[in-house]
Amino acid sequence: MDAALPTDDILTTQLRHAVNWARRCSLWPMPFATACCGIELMATASSRFDLARFGAEAMRFSPRQADLMIVAGRVAVKMLPVLQRVYQQMTEPKWVISMGACASTGGVFDTYAVVQGIDQFIPVDVYVPGCPPRPETLMEGIMAIQRIVDNDGIPPRGLRRPLNIALEPTHVLKPQPTPLTVHGN
Ligand code: SF4
Repeated sequence: MDAALPTDDILTTQLRHAVNWARRCSLWPMPFATACCGIELMATASSRFDLARFGAEAMRFSPRQADLMIVAGRVAVKMLPVLQRVYQQMTEPKWVISMGACASTGGVFDTYAVVQGIDQFIPVDVYVPGCPPRPETLMEGIMAIQRIVDNDGIPPRGLRRPLNIALEPTHVLKPQPTPLTVHGN
């Protein structure tokens, strides 16, 4: 078709490529930064590393304005319902980066109080390794998300393809604070 066109001023493409190009260049991250990894996340958006080069610098603290959740840091069991609520409130289609050892596995915090990997509770698209990962590593993770978007079809009804993993906690959360029992005087 390109050869048949009488001028070079016309560009032909598929609608899917055009839509995905716009989506990949306008990711709006939702920073869920709970610990030291969050500092590296902040540095990534700073002038030295300039996340704006990838069109993903517009951090939003309202989930309804964000489509890329970046979980940076350990997630306490108490915080888990908040993480899930924020994820559910984000716009579709949406993606998740698990940044650092703590978010991905609990890291060195092998305790009952820390979630041992957020992917047990929300679908994770890209894991960024490190303790903490450097900003360049997080950028590589964001570029991996861009490659996923590039290869994505336009999702039906705007919903992401299910990853077939558990979205709900596999254990029952205890109500907090735990009521105290005072025995006799
Ligand atoms: S992975 Fe390391 S730097 Fe990141 S939150 Fe855990 S302890 Fe902190």
